[in-house]
Amino acid sequence: MGLGAVDIVWKLPLALVAMVVLYLVGAALVRNFARAHDQPDEDEPVVLSDVDYRFRCVVCSAMVVMYAAPDGEVPLPPRHCAERMDLVSPVA
Ligand SMILES: [Zn+2]
Repeated sequence: MGLGAVDIVWKLPLALVAMVVLYLVGAALVRNFARAHDQPDEDEPVVLSDVDYRFRCVVCSAMVVMYAAPDGEVPLPPRHCAERMDLVSPVA
């Protein structure tokens, strides 16, 4: 009886430690796998094309000229005075 209780006292923490170690090893493996999986995407260069987007702030009329943007996309207008700026001149 007494022996059994001592056994549990020693085995329970050991079991918990073993579980934590297994969890950490597993998490590290998954993290490594995810990172290896993500790497091709991170290395892929963003293709920028020359553009000439002019944005005007609707509040204070400040102008922003965008010379480069991701290829094939009209970028979201930048914010100025907490408002989206107006696209004044699309690409010619
Ligand atoms: Zn503004």
